[in-house]
Amino acid sequence: MHFETLAIHDGQTPDPATGSVTVPIFQTSTFARENLDQRPEYFYSRIGNPTRQALESSIALLENARFGLAFASGVAAAMAALQILRPGDHIVSGIDIYGGTYRIFEQLLRPWGIAITYAQDETTENYARCIKPETKLIWLESPSNPLLRISDIRATAAIAQATNIKIAVDNTFASPYFQRPLDLGAHIVIHSTTKYLGGHSDVIGGAVATNDQSLYTTIRNYQAAAGAIPGPWDCWLIMRGIKTLKIRMKEHESSAIHLARILQTHPAIESVWYPGLPSHPQHDLAKQQMNGFGGMLTIALKGGAPAVEHLLGKLKLFALADSLGGVESLAASPSKMTLGALTPEERRKRNCTDNLVRLSIGLEHPGDLESDLRQALAGIPV
Ligand SMILES: *Cc1c(COP(=O)(O)O)cnc(C)c1O
Repeated sequence: MHFETLAIHDGQTPDPATGSVTVPIFQTSTFARENLDQRPEYFYSRIGNPTRQALESSIALLENARFGLAFASGVAAAMAALQILRPGDHIVSGIDIYGGTYRIFEQLLRPWGIAITYAQDETTENYARCIKPETKLIWLESPSNPLLRISDIRATAAIAQATNIKIAVDNTFASPYFQRPLDLGAHIVIHSTTKYLGGHSDVIGGAVATNDQSLYTTIRNYQAAAGAIPGPWDCWLIMRGIKTLKIRMKEHESSAIHLARILQTHPAIESVWYPGLPSHPQHDLAKQQMNGFGGMLTIALKGGAPAVEHLLGKLKLFALADSLGGVESLAASPSKMTLGALTPEERRKRNCTDNLVRLSIGLEHPGDLESDLRQALAGIPV
């Protein structure tokens, strides 16, 4: 079956008890047992809940995975996936990654004796050069935040295959509609379902998908033991979002392409980072491993920080906000907001300059978004 059919139907057969066509919200902490000998499928909602189970099954199908797991947030999902590591292990990661993942690496894993090397650019050769005998995991975020860089998932998985190194991919920016990392050889996929999967800026959540039974068992045990699980109501909201993922992603993308083309010729703009533009250094790679380029783009303004302040102050439709992937367009300054907690030196290493603006292109009419950007760019310092 096709993606949109699975998104609507999988794990979502009408409720056997009532015929409800949507999965009921099983808002319960516990489940009564028939007797002491029985260990039922559901007995306590931290361990398992039917609404969460429906979401987990849906996530597995969308990622073409055997197993899916849902978490209370994207960072909780990342933390759970990272439980496959032990003190003494080493991670290779791209440098342009979500700030919260960087914080997990530096503030949670490093003190526990796990080392991390950041590859300065996302070429496969560079990832390979960073590998040590202790390397157990390569962490890829593709497209990356905020510079929309692309890692070659298939080629990186190929170098890891000979060793026992696992490949984890944060697939939040692409969503499973545009990219299926497990099909390209990755072992683990991580999502912030807060973003495109939820899609309406109304819920925080995360997910993990894998085909590997032993990785699944480790991550599943951690989920049950550590307990960063989403409530049934949040699971239901994410499932509702997933049903329209295809049509939303197509629309996010077509508007993003339209705006990226216009912005790249604007005199106030130094560069536009969008994998769908032929000028993007990894446009061909993006075309090969993705079915589309997504709805995120980042612009660099000629006028530096004052220009960023001018633009963000004048935008009317784009809300000045963290997060992404919702129906409403959002604008953010990576250096002041999403990566604001980093030191200037850390930001410099990542090429996160003060003149960047990250745009999450929503589902408004692209002409209205264009007018808003044009009026906000008018009279901007260059
Ligand atoms: C938002 C985000 C996360 C973290 O997800 P939360 O739901 O905020 O915990 C991880 N990775 C990427 C790429 C993100 O955009």
